[in-house]
Amino acid sequence: MEVTANPEARAGLYLHIPFCRAKCPYCDFYSVTRPPEETSYLAALLAEAKLWAEFWPEELPLETLYVGGGTPSLLSPRFYERLLEGLLPILPLAPREMTLEANPEGLRFGYLKALRELGFNRLSIGAQSFSEKGLRALGRRHSPEDTRQAVEAARQAGFENLSLDLIFGWPGQDLHDLEEDLSAALALSPEHLSCYELTVEEGTSFYRLLQEGRLTLPPEDLLVAMHEMIPEILEAHGFGRYEISNYARPGFTCRHNLLYWHLKPYLGLGPAAASFFQGKHLRNPEDLEGYLRSLGEGRLPVQVEEVLEEEAALKEALFLGLRLLEGVDLEELSRRFGRDPAQLFASEISRLAALGLVHLEGGRLKLTKKGLLLANQVQLHFL
Ligand code: SF4
Repeated sequence: MEVTANPEARAGLYLHIPFCRAKCPYCDFYSVTRPPEETSYLAALLAEAKLWAEFWPEELPLETLYVGGGTPSLLSPRFYERLLEGLLPILPLAPREMTLEANPEGLRFGYLKALRELGFNRLSIGAQSFSEKGLRALGRRHSPEDTRQAVEAARQAGFENLSLDLIFGWPGQDLHDLEEDLSAALALSPEHLSCYELTVEEGTSFYRLLQEGRLTLPPEDLLVAMHEMIPEILEAHGFGRYEISNYARPGFTCRHNLLYWHLKPYLGLGPAAASFFQGKHLRNPEDLEGYLRSLGEGRLPVQVEEVLEEEAALKEALFLGLRLLEGVDLEELSRRFGRDPAQLFASEISRLAALGLVHLEGGRLKLTKKGLLLANQVQLHFL
């Protein structure tokens, strides 16, 4: 099924909540495991927004809000109420989509109802797996039943846009396990599903275990079979694959994440949060203490990571857009950047086409089935 990935939103706001109960062994997102101090964190986020307001143009409304982490569901509804009250007069915040990431454990009706009343209309639940074996292998603290109860509570609270995250390729997983995870997820009728292959990043516990030979991941051929099984099953159940790892029922693509893949502006607040603004990639350091200190002294902690010149911006728009199943409209990129990507990257494109990784269809450059499996290699051709 074809699901349109039209970006709609012009810009978005990301808020990072850097607190977790415990560190999962595969996770390389920035978070600390001490209890959240809501008052000081709220003050810092609002101070950061105020400093950014001097640069962020009024005429570029932030049309999506995404609260990610860490574990945003550790913070109270009162925190989010005060945060939204504080942000609205500072930034041009007019979100049509407001997502909160949540861990299943302890997600109760009252909590979710309060979030819904604040305007959150999309919930992304980190289910990861529906088998005890899978959750244990991933070092997660919740049970499959926690996820089922969380989904039920979210529906009762009025969430009509629910996304579930699944991880596949965990140690010991076979095709049957994956099929069961997908069936269990489908049984909960979410509007959106994200299926990520487990990757082992440097600095994580899994990385150390892998180095020590104490972690065994599924072999390559099994992973390929998993990559093939997921779209087959989800598409047969009415989901459209619109990005390498993301599937939605019609009308339920994630507007916020589409901003990233369309290289549109976004503002990120909080430690480790990234922004893209006026051709610059910016990032706050992964350091909660430094973040609080810097904002306490009235300074933005942000560091410029990269300034994109015209050709580099076009290149990035091209390879990010290729992650989308609808591909990239070469003419639209040409109008947007004033350079013709078909000419500028003619040799890269023909090399990738010769390898069977991309193809042209109605003026759009798209990944082939093989290209979807080898997306990282495609990206290397544009670096
Ligand atoms: S996976 Fe989620 S809950 Fe686990 S450490 Fe990472 S951010 Fe925290």
